[in-house]
Amino acid sequence: MEQYQDIRDAVAKLCAHFPGEYWRALDRDMTYPGEFVEALTEAGWLSILIPEAYGGSGLPLSAAAAVLEEIQRAGCNGGACHAQMYTMGTLLRHGSEAQKLRYLPKIAAGELRLQAFGVTEPTSGTDTGALKTTARLDGNHFVVKGQKIWTSRAEHSDLMLLLARTTPLKDGMKKTDGLSVLIVDMREAVGKGLTIRPIRTMMNHATTEVFFDDLRVPAENLVGEEGKGFRYILSGMNAERILIAAECVGDAKWFIEKASAYARERHVFGRAIGQNQGIQFPIARAYANMRAAELMVREALNLYEAGKNPGAEANMAKMLAADASNEAANVCIQTHGGFGFAEEYDVERKFRETRLYQVAPISTNLILSFLSEHVLGLPRSY
Ligand SMILES: Cc1cc2nc3c(=O)[nH]c(=O)nc-3n(C[C@H](O)[C@H](O)[C@H](O)COP(=O)(O)OP(=O)(O)OC[C@H]3O[C@@H](n4cnc5c(N)ncnc54)[C@H](O)[C@@H]3O)c2cc1C
Repeated sequence: MEQYQDIRDAVAKLCAHFPGEYWRALDRDMTYPGEFVEALTEAGWLSILIPEAYGGSGLPLSAAAAVLEEIQRAGCNGGACHAQMYTMGTLLRHGSEAQKLRYLPKIAAGELRLQAFGVTEPTSGTDTGALKTTARLDGNHFVVKGQKIWTSRAEHSDLMLLLARTTPLKDGMKKTDGLSVLIVDMREAVGKGLTIRPIRTMMNHATTEVFFDDLRVPAENLVGEEGKGFRYILSGMNAERILIAAECVGDAKWFIEKASAYARERHVFGRAIGQNQGIQFPIARAYANMRAAELMVREALNLYEAGKNPGAEANMAKMLAADASNEAANVCIQTHGGFGFAEEYDVERKFRETRLYQVAPISTNLILSFLSEHVLGLPRSY
């Protein structure tokens, strides 16, 4: 499988301009890494999945995975912009030709940002079919009412892909039917029925809650067919899981490299702490787990690019990689002793950032439920 070493080298070179000091300052003030995202956009890295016909590079998912892995491996945070890679898949696969022509070339040129994805709601959580935001057709507009939560990057995006109920739930109807995907142009909407409120979190993630108060969205912004939105969102999930898994592999590599370097340099009792097996073994174990996760990411990518449906592999890749990065983060702090908690080492920041992937975009329990039901044939537990 192509490893895209040239892409990896170029991304690493770009990331070298955004060292720890840059991320620390943003983290302190909870501000968005605008210059970093701008640099990635200008270099074309965020549009590599857009087909050449619409101005992108038309590269496969493994190239996008290489970009995101290298960003994390360099100590940067792709969470600021990773959604642009996978949200546009919904538009690419299910959008009309007119929608693709309207949006994709501008996204590829860096003139338009599609970074926000409004699915999760405060009351429904993981149970997406229970979401309450409605979009009612009124003439040639949808009128949207409701609330989303954890809509990341909403303040730093022009467009949002929104999942809302367009057909009221009736007895006997599957609750995942009747949902539709709309493209919301937030540039026109803020203050006219759309309110965005930032949520402060343990890491700098620019996440928000979003309120819709009779927001009018042109009917032509409906993606695909009315009522099939859940399926459209689901069809992008494999790509999303795989890309997040690649980021976690990158994080794990950063932690392992950082821990190994410190263990070689730090001398206590007259010798390198890395000479102690109590320090070596946890790092070596984290390395083995990272490599195993990396192989599962490759397996998922191979199947995805062969046109198969790697639901199980994409989910396993995400879980194993998130576990590997979480373990490596913990080992890295332990290896650094007290310095692991000091801001200037960047370890505690990356530790907080990688912790997210145990929960989002899908939590570990839901992955285990998927495997139990769909791979092992066990009864559905919810
Ligand atoms: C920083 C951040 C950014 C995010 N960005 C976005 C975004 O851009 N767009 C978006 O739409 N969403 C986003 N999310 C939401 C994220 O996808 C959800 O938080 C995640 O899917 C979990 O949903 P929940 O928080 O509602 O947890 P809940 O569904 O309330 O679950 C809570 C806990 O219970 C467990 N649980 C629930 N049901 C079961 C069950 N049947 N069996 C076993 N365990 C169960 C879960 O695993 C979890 O541990 C983001 C979240 C965070 C924290």
